[in-house]
Amino acid sequence: MISLTAKKRILDIEPYRPGKPIAEVKRELGLKSVIKLASNENPYGPSPKAIEAIRREAGNVNRYPDGGCFYLRQTLAKHLAVKPEQLIFGNGSDEIIVMAIKAFVGEGDEVVIAKPSFLIYEIASRIEGAVVKPVPLVDFRYDLAAMEKAVTPKTRMIFIGNPDNPAGTFVTAAQLADFLKNTRPDIFVFIDEAYFEYVTGGDYPDTFKLQKTYKNILVTRTFSKMYALAGLRVGYGIADPEVIGILNRVREPFNINSLAQAAAVACLKDQKYYRGIAKLVGEQRQFLYEQLRDAGLPFVPSATNFVLIDVKQNGSDVAGRLLRKGVIVRDMGCWGLTRYIRVTIGTASENKRFIKTLKAILQEEA
Ligand code: PMP
Repeated sequence: MISLTAKKRILDIEPYRPGKPIAEVKRELGLKSVIKLASNENPYGPSPKAIEAIRREAGNVNRYPDGGCFYLRQTLAKHLAVKPEQLIFGNGSDEIIVMAIKAFVGEGDEVVIAKPSFLIYEIASRIEGAVVKPVPLVDFRYDLAAMEKAVTPKTRMIFIGNPDNPAGTFVTAAQLADFLKNTRPDIFVFIDEAYFEYVTGGDYPDTFKLQKTYKNILVTRTFSKMYALAGLRVGYGIADPEVIGILNRVREPFNINSLAQAAAVACLKDQKYYRGIAKLVGEQRQFLYEQLRDAGLPFVPSATNFVLIDVKQNGSDVAGRLLRKGVIVRDMGCWGLTRYIRVTIGTASENKRFIKTLKAILQEEA
């Protein structure tokens, strides 16, 4: 059997279970319409300018992509007001998580993460043979004091999802500043800002400013969420050029495909379109909150485009029943949150359908 030749630590990892394509769910359940609110995608789609750029670039896919992402790098550097050599691109920001661990964390080293947090932090660490130290959230927020206590001489990396998935909350500027002051400079602080564009107000940290003092910070963001390019896979990291130089040694040479590069440039140039989406998502988040309050269901107020909901009964069961009625949400079983579901904020009509279906299911129960 081929698995006999795999490393033991690889066999111990629970494989990521992908959801079924919408078309397959429709076919299997005999449903006419299915809505997917499970992967925190942008339901409105990318800027029409990005779609045009993809069409323009399509005829050139016989060529390898630009391994240095020249135009994307220049455009993004200007947009963020950073130097081009402070940037690295990944096949989704997932790939940057993997690259950082590959480059900085060895077998037996320790990685501190929150629990629950984004699953890839743990999976990628375990692939490299690192020991993961999970620190429980308190009231769905990072317990940074406990994370400091979890640090040992073997700690090499700390992950901060800001805001994190699945809770949707963030560490404030004041909390992060204190935490960095107390963290050894040889520990890599990975700050994942995948949902940064959805954050409005609050004391959200300016991580670029912090990077001027602390060279041990890597910030990642993505074109998958707000920019609606999840299917093209492009994310980026911002760090000191020396850190970027190290990450580049483990990066595959052509990791960002040419359609993704062209589309990402076009997205950056259409900020107006995305400001409109941020507004819509904000309004729809309020709609969901009102409806959930009306249904008597507690939820975690979110700074993102998803909401974690306490359904006050078995969450996997509720997710399964929603699925049979054509509404796909995220079952929280693999995060150990047995009473919860996570729902992505969809379009107005998707959210109405989700709420109506959820309320009907809970009524059935009564
Ligand atoms: N970080 C967090 C917190 C996420 O939720 C996700 C996507 N679910 C990612 C990173 C990765 O996104 P991508 O690889 O598409 O950039």
